[in-house]
Amino acid sequence: RVRVRFAPSPTGGLHLGGVRTVLFNYLFARRHGGDFVLRIEDTDQTRFVEGAEAYIQQCLEWCGLEPDESPFKGGPYGPYRQSERKPMYRAFAEQLVREGKAYYAFDTPEELDYMRSHLKTPENPSPQYDHRVRLQMRNSLSLPKEEVERLLQEGLPHVVRIRMPEHETVGFTDMIRGEVVFQTGQVDDKVLLKADGMPTYHLAVVVDDYHMKITHAFRGEEWLPSAPVHVLLWKYLGWEDAMPQWAHLPLILKPDGNGKLSKRDGDRLGFPVFAMDWTDPRTGESTKGFKELGFLPEAFVNMLAMMGWNDGSGQEIFTLLDLVARFDMDRVHKGGAKFDFDKAKWFNHEWIKFFPTDGLFDFVAPLFAAKGVTADKDYQKRVVQLVKDRCTLLTDFWDQGYFFFEDPQAYDLAAVAPKWTDKNKVFFEALSSDIRQLVDFDAVLLETAFKALATAHGIKPGELQMLFRVMLVGGKFGPPLFDIAAFLGKEGTARRIDKGIA
Ligand code: GLU
Repeated sequence: RVRVRFAPSPTGGLHLGGVRTVLFNYLFARRHGGDFVLRIEDTDQTRFVEGAEAYIQQCLEWCGLEPDESPFKGGPYGPYRQSERKPMYRAFAEQLVREGKAYYAFDTPEELDYMRSHLKTPENPSPQYDHRVRLQMRNSLSLPKEEVERLLQEGLPHVVRIRMPEHETVGFTDMIRGEVVFQTGQVDDKVLLKADGMPTYHLAVVVDDYHMKITHAFRGEEWLPSAPVHVLLWKYLGWEDAMPQWAHLPLILKPDGNGKLSKRDGDRLGFPVFAMDWTDPRTGESTKGFKELGFLPEAFVNMLAMMGWNDGSGQEIFTLLDLVARFDMDRVHKGGAKFDFDKAKWFNHEWIKFFPTDGLFDFVAPLFAAKGVTADKDYQKRVVQLVKDRCTLLTDFWDQGYFFFEDPQAYDLAAVAPKWTDKNKVFFEALSSDIRQLVDFDAVLLETAFKALATAHGIKPGELQMLFRVMLVGGKFGPPLFDIAAFLGKEGTARRIDKGIA
């Protein structure tokens, strides 16, 4: 049975790359009738951010990408929080030490600093803790056995490090990149178990993927350099046959394709999914997210799917169900995927245009309410229906439709000034009183009456339309003029003309 996982560390907000990883995991699981697991990797207590875990869960919920098993939901392979699995990791680290595949290291921070700055040689210009320097350090490979026993008895703080072989290659087949091979001699002896007894990410990810029966592990390309450590651990722990198939997803790049998208790329690029109610420790700020900017979750997910994948047909708009039916790892490309905010907005606009009005209204209603709108629901929905083609973000609904709820507070005088003549004023006085006397009132009747009256006044109707529009909405924008008037009704239209004249 296919089992995949998303394994975030609760160290901050969830950004584009993270949600794209979620999405690809989710699609793959659904496509193959498998399970999607959310596991919280909270072994690094120093980077833990209160609230980040709940935030991640809410983001997944908003995106409609909910896991089958998680710390919140439980499941047969729990607990799903690494801090709650702490007791199980040490045994594996000890096992590796007994078998000579890992070792205890007692080095103090000063000793590590000394190593980094003093053990340089021409062959090893920037020493890492590896086979070239390990015998000069304080660990169970370099010290006599009795000495090691004594230090352990004394309870001297120590870590467990993996013993990377000097001259071996480790490789695996990446589902996106094909064969990937590493020279073990280039990789340092990563810490597996920290002095506080917590595993590092490297040990925990392997132990948990094994025990949670994960079959496929998809993660960002930034984890590729760690892969040799993980592959070796699978082997060292004797679980090689159960190792998941890896796929390292393409980086997300800036719009010009120049460099990796980072959270520091200014407010347009690095948006998280939601605003965070804490300050993001990585950026030192709390920014609005895609949700607050006015994205529909459906559009956001659609846009993410296209960052690194396409179905080869040129189609760009997909529902989540379409994606589940079409998604295929074979079509994920390894080149970086560009993120372009304008393109993201394009997706949103397309989605708003064909989204059912009732569904849109659920998103727009709180925005209207925040502006003090109290009009009845059906009226609000009609506004949504009338202006949706003109909206790119959900927040545009107010700007595009506010005049259906309140008279314009100001007029775009620059747009009307040259046409504001006495003759035209007389026309509008007549129009207002004619409108009040109309028995039936709709866009067609009004347009006919408007044109007839203009002709009677010896003015070209075209001369008057912009003036009329500005009286109704305050500026040079909005849906077709007579539709607006019909919407506002007889009284509303006449009142705005009177106000406009005055
Ligand atoms: N905890 C890692 C992270 O924060 C997970 C990487 C992986 O999926 O192996 O992204």
